[in-house]
Amino acid sequence: MDDGVRTPALLPSPLEEIHDERLGGVRLLVKRDDLLHPELPGNKWRKLERNLAEAARQGRRTLLTFGGAYSNHIRATAAAGRLFGFATIGVIRGEEHTPLNPSLAYAAARGMRLTYLDRAAYRAKRDPELLSRLRDRWGDFYLLPEGGSNVQGVLGCAELPAELVAQTAGARGPGGGAPGFDVVCCACGTGGTIAGVAGGLPPGARAIGFPVLKGGGFLAEEVERLQREAFGRVRGDWALECGFHFGGYARSTPELDAFVRDFGERHGVALDRVYVGKMMYGVFALAARGAFAPGTRVVAVITGPGDAL
Ligand SMILES: *Cc1c(COP(=O)(O)O)cnc(C)c1O
Repeated sequence: MDDGVRTPALLPSPLEEIHDERLGGVRLLVKRDDLLHPELPGNKWRKLERNLAEAARQGRRTLLTFGGAYSNHIRATAAAGRLFGFATIGVIRGEEHTPLNPSLAYAAARGMRLTYLDRAAYRAKRDPELLSRLRDRWGDFYLLPEGGSNVQGVLGCAELPAELVAQTAGARGPGGGAPGFDVVCCACGTGGTIAGVAGGLPPGARAIGFPVLKGGGFLAEEVERLQREAFGRVRGDWALECGFHFGGYARSTPELDAFVRDFGERHGVALDRVYVGKMMYGVFALAARGAFAPGTRVVAVITGPGDAL
């Protein structure tokens, strides 16, 4: 992409160490992707950047994408359209509710046109017949799948581990060649981020994804599909920890709320409850359970901005 997209992004995003006695001998670093870009934060910037370049290369003027009514991806796509000169169409799961919730109001204010599909119809979001009906109605568009998770999005996320390698270069062990980190953790929605991060890992490092939806078991197949599309094969040492969804998407519990509040107070890093809070809770729980050998260097990716502290 030209400098229009590259320049405002804070690359590499900062890497900061968190000191917390509850972690025992585990070392925790946070990758501050929440600071990447003011309007396209976190993994949304990583997933959109190459897609915007590809849309421009194909001469498309309009981006069409899919998402739930509270989707960060819908917000980010609307912002990207406004910033980089694309018309945007958001196909939203469920019925229209007015007044619009803050996410959709934000998208509409950036010029996104919104259209709605009931849950059954929405499930067919990759069906060529639905896409051709959308083309009849809205004209030609560049299709961004839900969450921005496609080949371009996965390849964008695959750049993250190289930043970590450079940022931890001084921390290499006596072996020399090994990376300065052992495990990268991130929250998963559609799975595009973990597919890319895992695919970009250096030898000796592994990735753990924390699905925020209930029944996240289906996600492994989706991550494999995305990796095959992007890399031609399933790639990298990765696994999913499906026990930290806290009841499902956008659900929370008093325990998760308390953890997120406490983490913010101790470390000055705001976590969001939908994604990053669940992943971070999971990292602490795994550490407490002895799932990481003492001295393990764990990187937790802050994939988006937090709720107000
Ligand atoms: C969208 C989002 C995710 C999920 O990313 P996927 O690539 O869909 O798995 C994780 N964290 C935050 C903060 C997000 O906004």
